[in-house]
Amino acid sequence: MLELPLIARARSFENRHALREGEVYRSYGELLDASARIAAALLGGRRDLEEARIAFMAPASFEYVAIQWGIWRAGGIAVPLSVHATVPELAHALGDSDACLILVTRAEADRFASEERALLLVDDALRCEACELPEIRHERRAMILYTSGTTNKPKGAVSTHANLQAQIEALVVAWEWQADDRIPLFLPLHHIHGIINVLGCALWSGALVDVFPRFDPAMVLPRVAAGEYSLFMAVPTIYAKLATQLEPDSQRAVLKGFAAMRLMVSGSAALPASLHRRWAELTSQSLLERYGMTETGMILSNPLHGERRSGSVGQPLPGVEVRLRSETGETITTANEAGEIQVRGPAVFLEYWQLPETSAASFEDGWFRTGDMGIREDGYYRILGRLSVDIIKSGGYKLSALEIEAALLEHPAIRECAVIGLEDDTWGETVAVAAVLEGDLGLEDLQHWSKGRLSSYKLPRRLLRVESLPRNAMGKVAKKEVGKLFR
Ligand code: ATP
Ligand code: MG
Repeated sequence: MLELPLIARARSFENRHALREGEVYRSYGELLDASARIAAALLGGRRDLEEARIAFMAPASFEYVAIQWGIWRAGGIAVPLSVHATVPELAHALGDSDACLILVTRAEADRFASEERALLLVDDALRCEACELPEIRHERRAMILYTSGTTNKPKGAVSTHANLQAQIEALVVAWEWQADDRIPLFLPLHHIHGIINVLGCALWSGALVDVFPRFDPAMVLPRVAAGEYSLFMAVPTIYAKLATQLEPDSQRAVLKGFAAMRLMVSGSAALPASLHRRWAELTSQSLLERYGMTETGMILSNPLHGERRSGSVGQPLPGVEVRLRSETGETITTANEAGEIQVRGPAVFLEYWQLPETSAASFEDGWFRTGDMGIREDGYYRILGRLSVDIIKSGGYKLSALEIEAALLEHPAIRECAVIGLEDDTWGETVAVAAVLEGDLGLEDLQHWSKGRLSSYKLPRRLLRVESLPRNAMGKVAKKEVGKLFR
């Protein structure tokens, strides 16, 4: 029988631990058994779900993985719902994907009390006896993952099994995943970062995932101190939080635990240079920054072996082709010239769910248009930001908000900041910064300090002190919301 490679591989790890939840270990064999039961329950006598959309909500747990695999083994399209989603967000994902069924754990079931769609409790599904499962071809749609909604309403990115496998394999090769790797998972499981980079890669490799419902230092750090993990993957906001909390004197064991890991990765948003430095001082680890998105999996990565450059996201991953395109539609071949990052390869998704026009407009002769601007300096890429919100057009120049943010974050009084372009009659747009400050800082002082660091046309013209920056569930700054703060 043609079996999904993920499932075939799991058979070869049958007796190994796949997941740890608190003090309980669950094996790959248990996952195979539970997912076969869930598949049988979903099929309910049919031979194949034939790409029916099955939405599901479960905290990071054994059940989560069993459901995901169960949907895939029955031939359905998995639509993971965030346990942290608001009512409108849930309504959007359910309505847009037009899921015919929602699979939930008992703890989450109440949230769907007034839902008209069919609801299936995981506990009930697990009581089903396994049955014969359909053959699943690689080209079949596997998952609809909603983008973070940073620039607009979340779009449903549809990936096939072949796409997901390519996304996983690129990272398994580049980061040398092994069966003896152990990784904590505390990232949301409705997003590519947690689903592919952590869960997908680990379970592909026969490794162990220690699952947590959310990032709680009190739960995760004792295990770091105990030397339990070989790998660690997080978003910059988590590293920032840890960097302020960790005390070199009183938390030696935790710092040693971090120092002993074989790899620590940051991504999903830009990693400030100051944080990269601070983390290296604390743990002697050089954080590996990478860049990717829901539609493609990971695209660029700093090397596992070799120089990891702060402020850069590295080079194309194996199997991923990257090009920079100028506004006039030419491929940029010279170094240090900015252009849109475009991607091609087996990892690139199939389409946006039920958005044929958006899907068509997102490709240029077979290359996916990321909507992000980048620049290449001796083979290493730097992300300049999203064309729609991070590229500021001022007085004929195109400025990168990310570059200005990186410079401003070097100021001792600026803890966090977001740079945007504000409409301006004379300049088109002017540079405005919203910042979380430690101590006092006026605009003139900031401009004065910035002069040696930024060209005059990049200097901030507005400074707004804020208590915190508006962020979405992935910890990304919601730039449109930042714009509203200035009004
Ligand atoms: P939406 O597409 O709905 O507006 P989103 O683009 O934030 O939301 P994701 O797919 O979660 O949704 O995020 C991918 C984006 O995150 C990339 O296109 C890029 O802008 C940003 N990103 C990811 N990694 C990095 C990084 N290392 N540095 C800077 N930006 C990054
Ligand atoms: Mg996007």
